[in-house]
Amino acid sequence: AGATQLKWSKAPCRFCGTGCGVMVAVKDDRVVATHGDMEAPVNKGLNCVKGYFLSKIMYGGDRLTTPLLRMKNGQYAKDGEFERVSWDKAFDVMAEQFKRVLKAKGPTAVGMFGSGQWTIWEGYAALKLMKGGFRTNNLDPNARHCMASAVAGFMRTFGADEPMGCYDDIEAADAFVLWGANMAEMHPILWTRVTDRRLGTPGVKVAVLSTFEHRSYDLADLKLTFEPQTDLAILNYIAHHIIKTGRVNKAFVDKHTQFQRGNDDIGYGLRPEHPLQKAAKNAANPGGATPMSYAEFAAFVSKYDLDSTAKLSGVPKKQLEALAELYANPKTKVMSFWTMGFNQHTRGVWCNNMVYNIHLLTGKIAQAGSTPFSLTGQPSACGTAREVGTFSHRLPADMVVANPKHRAHTEEIWKLPEGTIPATPGFHAVLQNRMLKDGKLNAYWVQVNNNMQAAANLNEEGLPGYRNPENFVVVSEVYPTVTAISADLILPSAMWVEKEGAYGNAERRTQFWHQLVPAPGEAKSDLWQLMEFSKRFTTDEVWPAELLAKRPDLKGKTLFEVLYRNGKVDSFPVSQIQAGYANDESKAFGFYVQKGLFEEYAAFGRGHGHDLAPFEMYHQTRGLRWPVVNGKETRRRYMEGEDPYVKTGTGVQFYGHSDGKAIIFALPYEPAAESPDKEYPYWLSTGRVLEHWHSGSMTRRVPELHKSFPNAVCFMHPDDAKALGVRRGDAVDVVSRRGSMRTRVETRGRDKPPRGLVFVPWFDASQLINKVTLDATDPISLQTDFKKCAVKIVPA
Ligand code: SF4
Repeated sequence: AGATQLKWSKAPCRFCGTGCGVMVAVKDDRVVATHGDMEAPVNKGLNCVKGYFLSKIMYGGDRLTTPLLRMKNGQYAKDGEFERVSWDKAFDVMAEQFKRVLKAKGPTAVGMFGSGQWTIWEGYAALKLMKGGFRTNNLDPNARHCMASAVAGFMRTFGADEPMGCYDDIEAADAFVLWGANMAEMHPILWTRVTDRRLGTPGVKVAVLSTFEHRSYDLADLKLTFEPQTDLAILNYIAHHIIKTGRVNKAFVDKHTQFQRGNDDIGYGLRPEHPLQKAAKNAANPGGATPMSYAEFAAFVSKYDLDSTAKLSGVPKKQLEALAELYANPKTKVMSFWTMGFNQHTRGVWCNNMVYNIHLLTGKIAQAGSTPFSLTGQPSACGTAREVGTFSHRLPADMVVANPKHRAHTEEIWKLPEGTIPATPGFHAVLQNRMLKDGKLNAYWVQVNNNMQAAANLNEEGLPGYRNPENFVVVSEVYPTVTAISADLILPSAMWVEKEGAYGNAERRTQFWHQLVPAPGEAKSDLWQLMEFSKRFTTDEVWPAELLAKRPDLKGKTLFEVLYRNGKVDSFPVSQIQAGYANDESKAFGFYVQKGLFEEYAAFGRGHGHDLAPFEMYHQTRGLRWPVVNGKETRRRYMEGEDPYVKTGTGVQFYGHSDGKAIIFALPYEPAAESPDKEYPYWLSTGRVLEHWHSGSMTRRVPELHKSFPNAVCFMHPDDAKALGVRRGDAVDVVSRRGSMRTRVETRGRDKPPRGLVFVPWFDASQLINKVTLDATDPISLQTDFKKCAVKIVPA
């Protein structure tokens, strides 16, 4: 009878960074239903339409269940056809190719592209294998496409990554300002909380800023559609308005901030070749920026007066003033939200810094209901990409490879010889594609992302690298995505509750789940793949003699033994797995793999403002927000009484910087990297839609979601359509200097662009808008601007 009964267990949703809790029903080793978890504090039982259909995402008809290798005449061949092979054969060929490249060119020719959808231990295992095992920093997550500007923004202003506030602030705020965030579609559950607050509490206001009208405008009291890129000017205008009207919180500013002239410093190990890197290493001068006075800052932002800002941005003066008043009014508690509109921006880091400027000038920060809040897109962009440090310049707990002390500390925890981790940051996401194309990155492993659909400028900088005959590209995937079929070897992955996992959401909440069902066929988790593959290499094969001379005891050992059987990771027995739950990795390796990796990883943050709770607590709770000290989570960081790291009597303490102060940066408006002209007269913006998760590889396999939004369309203003001689449903080519894609015109519905701008979502693998987009990046965060480039629309 047990085999036919439903067993319900908790898990976080597989999709977005909101981190909703769901209850998952399993019957006969199959997920048969999910519903919102009533006990989950994030969503209190609610789910959006994607979460509602979670039970179906694993059961698409074309699920990958065996390794597939390109073969010709029984041998691997770059121009061969995919054939089924065993895991042994797959790893034999893969190891041979990685060894060939390591021998010929060394560690800088090996790399990996990971994900904000990796579980925490998968990201950590990948970090160890790449930076500690293969000794390459060419590891970057797809979070580079979504969160890198937020990370650099936090680091520059506060000296520590991730938001100080939390979702509880929604119920305490008087006003919400959305900067380039369409929460109604991208963060719908948080939007229900904002809606509840707005409609349920008299006087609460919502302001929405965007380059086109979207569903979040429906709730807005203030709707501000601005000319692309002029958010930089609007942010400075608000600072100017606060100063001009005498509403600066002087006591707060004097006690908790300092002013600096902004610049392109990298400050935190992003680009070692930059001349300011040297200055950045000076702790007394974080970021290498130049100090300035309050009066100088006031003079700087005074250039952004109401008249000039209205003219530049196209936003009427009355609306700009009303927006500025929300921040300036000392009685209004304001929550600012942003996501890709800020982060995917050639000055995304500046945007982040500038919204902090406004909150710092008014003291509306680290208070209940008053906080800037950076939303995340992926379920573990925070927990894995940022906190584990899977970026090409990072290490766990906000540390960076460029800092010798950080490397030494990491090597100590990993029990590796001094000098193992290279000091130079590796290739970031955009550079990885370029280096593949140029033949400088030759052995490449991709997990949990679909970069051949997600990356910008695919025609020129994407596919050519994957098909470069010098390269061997491996993709671990669940379905045959554009990226998977562009590879030389496809490894079938387990997903979501087919493995034990942990994610960290946007409010610093770490959440665990158990393995609830087996993976289909021969599919294996990415964690198993990383660890099993590491057995194919010995230290003698991958490390230089001088490194081994420091630790002769490691000579001849496999990377598996050195990285994952190091006395800490393998110290937890399988018997500690909670009764009634499977754990395929632990069964395979003989110890509680996830617990071992987590407890070793947690050592980086404990006592350093980033404390994680003991492993078991997460299986018992609906997640906890770090820092967790003495079993107590932290709702608001930097705030006395809430954050255990804040000294009594200080009120607020931005302890990420050694002087306890946050930095207010003077930063200018700067034009976009590419703007419309006579030949390419439209702005193009790209993004997501409610029904589809990112590239649609999971949601397009759920019939209900697929039917509700089957294909991409080109949203445009009806008058633009008329001028072009096209009607709703007509085929058009969206053409840029880099490429083109064909889609259909949409002049109605959820998105209503102004004249001169079109919006095309990127979820549709049959219509790749990223053949068109520009791969210009923010010079500090190295994140791509997917929100603006110049195109023409040609009737097909
Ligand atoms: Fe899942 Fe995000 Fe929807 Fe919540 S809002 S159910 S986390 S997709």
